[in-house]
Amino acid sequence: MGLAVRVEPSVEKFVTAPLRKMLIDGKWIEAASGKTFETVDPATGKVLARVAEGDAEDVDRAARAARRAFDSGPWPRMAPAARQKILLKLADLIEAHGLELAQLETLDNGKSLGESQAVDIPAAAETFRYYAGWVNKVTGETNPTDPAFFNFTLREPVGVCGQIIPWNFPLLMAAWKLAPALACGNTCVLKPAEQTPLTALRLGELLQEAGVPDGVVNIVPGFGPTTGGAIVKHPLIDKVAFTGSTEVGKEIHRETAHTLKRVSLELGGKSPNIVFADADVTEAVKGALVGVFFNQGEVCCAGTRLFVEEKLHDEFADAVSKAASTMKQGHGLEAGTQVGPLVSQEQLERVTGYLEIGKKEGAKVLTGGERHTAPGLEGGYFVKPTVFTGVRNDMRIAQEEIFGPVVSVIPFKNEDDAVLQGNDTFYGLAAGVWTRDVSKAHRVARAIRAGTVWVNCYNVFDVMAPFGGYKQSGYGRELGRYALDLYTQVKSVWMRI
Ligand code: ADP
Repeated sequence: MGLAVRVEPSVEKFVTAPLRKMLIDGKWIEAASGKTFETVDPATGKVLARVAEGDAEDVDRAARAARRAFDSGPWPRMAPAARQKILLKLADLIEAHGLELAQLETLDNGKSLGESQAVDIPAAAETFRYYAGWVNKVTGETNPTDPAFFNFTLREPVGVCGQIIPWNFPLLMAAWKLAPALACGNTCVLKPAEQTPLTALRLGELLQEAGVPDGVVNIVPGFGPTTGGAIVKHPLIDKVAFTGSTEVGKEIHRETAHTLKRVSLELGGKSPNIVFADADVTEAVKGALVGVFFNQGEVCCAGTRLFVEEKLHDEFADAVSKAASTMKQGHGLEAGTQVGPLVSQEQLERVTGYLEIGKKEGAKVLTGGERHTAPGLEGGYFVKPTVFTGVRNDMRIAQEEIFGPVVSVIPFKNEDDAVLQGNDTFYGLAAGVWTRDVSKAHRVARAIRAGTVWVNCYNVFDVMAPFGGYKQSGYGRELGRYALDLYTQVKSVWMRI
């Protein structure tokens, strides 16, 4: 299958291989069943690559390999400096292969190459580098017990970690999961999303090149209920880390009750982005756009409920709408593309379905509101950046996660009303606040029930700042030192003196 767009020879070679295999115990192998699936370029709808499709038997092999690597392999027993060196080398390799990985990500996911290059790939490298820094800094403590005894704590790895990731930031999500787990000495079975398996598989090769021992990271591509379900159920897996929909998160929560595996869940959101009339309006408009159209709106913390103080509402909605209507859509590899295609046909149907729901609920389309099928883009899964007004917070488009370039502008009366409406959701992943009043910013930041609050900015990330949800947006915190709690457990040791 030839590519319609020019890419690095290494990318061409990677996607045109007859089969991209899975990584188990250091070997690249076919699925036990021999099954395969196709991954498509969402900008064209054409097949990009063929990938081995894992199921329960492959997950079992992977879990056994990871178990052996944990119970008797070198990784958890290695001198911290040696483990650190390998993770640092991996970070360097990701950077050295930056363009290749960025092109691969854009082809598989649809996002613009500019975003892949500026965000996904460097942030993935930085995540491994940051957690490499923690390898020799995770310490226990000594406790002032009865002097007849000596009590100390050890922070030990959890064991085998099953890690299930989504398709919106494929390589970066793999890094968020693998980096802290590996730094703490765990071993892993990683399942990339079926829509976007390619960069995780390329990462597998780089892990090997960096010197990660066999069996420490096993990568099993496949579908949710089969491959993912097998990871969740497997008795040799000690912990499940999941990023994805709230619906599947709840299923994982229920299923893991049988084995009491540790679980961390980073789920959906319907984040309020609150603009007060005293805000710097130019900056707030930019923030509203970044908040909802970055990565085609396929972002769990997207500011999809744009609350604007009544007296600013009409002017603000018009400004956002005008800017949204001029955003350039196209293949992610084309220069200047700002909004790429959605990841899949299924996602296209889901998002356009919500556009129809919004119209039926009586919301007004200020711009967009439909699929984008300009000449050359007919085969792709493009949706026009959409701004709805006339939205009430209890409408479905304001309560359910759409996961596309769609924003609902909702008026509010005053600070209390903004907080009340902002919190009126099952979700609690993130929020934005725009105001020049410092005291108000502090009050609202505290009153909003969400894991992240951005004041006079939106979608700002750094590997050192924790990220995770309140309410039904999940539990557990990724990034920063908090992720170390997810991947370690504490042992208390008593010694009689
Ligand atoms: P989306 O609806 O956005 O694709 P999902 O929550 O379905 O989000 O998918 C996120 C990840 O979870 C993907 O890797 C997917 O394959 C996986 N997944 C989906 N369903 C299940 C399931 N029942 N058990 C385990 N993993 C699943």
